[in-house]
Amino acid sequence: MTTTTFPSDAERPVEQAADLPVAEPSPLPPLPPRLRWRVVVRTGEKGKIDPSRPSRPLAWHLVSCTDNDSPVAHCPVGQRLLESGDDPDGHCLLDGVCPRCDLQK
Ligand SMILES: [Zn+2]
Repeated sequence: MTTTTFPSDAERPVEQAADLPVAEPSPLPPLPPRLRWRVVVRTGEKGKIDPSRPSRPLAWHLVSCTDNDSPVAHCPVGQRLLESGDDPDGHCLLDGVCPRCDLQK
């Protein structure tokens, strides 16, 4: 009967130990640009929220919005919402582009 001895793990050449498959880090899908919001609380003439106003007291704009009340600072959707006294819902123009509409394309 013949006995064969195999080298223990400690005696293995280093090249073999380094031959393990290396998991490639999978590239993450590009995230959509995150919008930063700012809420404007509309108040009445006395600085209080007017309950008689039909519109919602909170108006959502982007932090980049240059003029909350100016229609030209908003895209057509935002302008329409502003005209109806509604919340512009973040449809503010940034460099002439509405990021909100851009996200929905
Ligand atoms: Zn828009």
